[in-house]
Amino acid sequence: MTDRPTIAIVGRPNVGKSTLYNRLTNTHDALVSDLPGLTRDRREGEAAFGGHMLTLVDTAGLEEAKPGSIADRMRKQSETALQTADLVLFVIDARDGVTGADEGFAKIVREAGKPTILVANKCEGRRGEDGFYEAFKLGLGDPVAISAEHGEGLGDLEVDVLAALGLKSIVKHKSKQQRRRDAYEDIDEDEDATEVDDDGKPVTKDRTLKPLRVAIVGRPNAGKSTLVNALLGEDRMITGPEPGLTRDSVSIDFQSQGRLVRLFDTAGLRRKAKIHEAAEKLSASDAVRAIRFAEVVVLLVDAEHPLEHQDLTIGNMITEEGRAIVVAVNKWDLIEDKNKKLQEVKLLVEQSLAQVPGVPIVAVSALGERGLDPLMKAVIKASDTWNRRVSTGDLNRWLQEALQRHSPPAVSGRRIKLRYITQTSARPPSFIAFCSRPEEMPKSYIKYLSNSLRQAFNLPGVPIRIGLRKQDNPYDTGKRR
Ligand code: GDP
Repeated sequence: MTDRPTIAIVGRPNVGKSTLYNRLTNTHDALVSDLPGLTRDRREGEAAFGGHMLTLVDTAGLEEAKPGSIADRMRKQSETALQTADLVLFVIDARDGVTGADEGFAKIVREAGKPTILVANKCEGRRGEDGFYEAFKLGLGDPVAISAEHGEGLGDLEVDVLAALGLKSIVKHKSKQQRRRDAYEDIDEDEDATEVDDDGKPVTKDRTLKPLRVAIVGRPNAGKSTLVNALLGEDRMITGPEPGLTRDSVSIDFQSQGRLVRLFDTAGLRRKAKIHEAAEKLSASDAVRAIRFAEVVVLLVDAEHPLEHQDLTIGNMITEEGRAIVVAVNKWDLIEDKNKKLQEVKLLVEQSLAQVPGVPIVAVSALGERGLDPLMKAVIKASDTWNRRVSTGDLNRWLQEALQRHSPPAVSGRRIKLRYITQTSARPPSFIAFCSRPEEMPKSYIKYLSNSLRQAFNLPGVPIRIGLRKQDNPYDTGKRR
């Protein structure tokens, strides 16, 4: 062992860990499959980052483990690799999007508490794009888009690796950082927007700050650009594009209510209002990207035409993607009978977003810069709700009550049994209930449960997921009934 920093490459099988390892270590004997998986759980090699030699650990041998034991072995192996690592490269396959296995690994990685860089692999071409945006939801910071196979994005990765380890590049030629800084200057029109230090790193970069990611979506002319500019005008602390977010989108950071907020600048909202371009249409894919980027999505509607067809489509996209939602009703200055309007909007929201009762509604005037504080307060509150974890004890006490109040239906003469519930993840709150016959459970009962759960634990305005898992009562031989 040396005292070189160690970087572990972690992720589920087939995301490209070995390819990345080979790329970074310049190893060409890629296929080591002549060795049985059991004997090659990890490989260690050397890789140069900005002139520093670092130790790289690949956990890809797990892919050859026998089925059945694989989950356990992967977990164990990753945990060992994580313990010894100074930095973790957590790899996902952007073409596959974020899978359940990725989420499982992400949890292990988060719990390990090591500095982590989220790497979205297979981002060449456009097929990885959706997965790249989806990766934000893993809660491991902004993904770095790469293609290990084609050698793309490795410069960005290097910048992030050096930054995470507090190292400076000692390579003489024009550094990747410099090139990247040049690239920033091309993207950003605001002279003071991208403050970078001598290494080309944005000065405000701090992984521990965890900005709250917010997107503002809505129909053209709802006032999105105006709102973005109003919010930024409040506190101009724009840091420009972040390392890791090197694709075409740009995020804007600002402070609000004592929190760092990162706003998704959909189709250049900020720029648009500045140079008075004609309104561009927000395409569906722009909205999807914005929604995937965000933790909380502000659906901005026009008070004079609230919640028309397009708003509803976007609203449904938000809940389907599992994001927290806040409805902001803009152009409030134009409304005469504000009470009446508010009742109208409340009713519309209740009806059209019935799947997420309790969506907060905030009246704003982007133009008049009114209602911005309440809006941001609602956003932060929604994010807290979205991140909420309920203890298993409380959940099961609630479940017993809910079952008593309304027992599950009998199907084919036998009552379906629910025995136990636990929260599997937050963001959005997701639960698994163990059930005797999950496939026969009517949707209406699940809906009853999720509404009751939402009320019991005060989870308004966020999607709630309840999955059923089959579990027979171990004491029930099935012969008694
Ligand atoms: P976007 O397409 O959603 O980005 O909408 P814009 O921000 O370009 O705004 C569309 C129009 O609505 C512009 O003429 C704005 O000046 C106007 N607008 C935006 N917010 C308000 C508001 O709070 N009150 C009023 N009266 N007009 C607004």
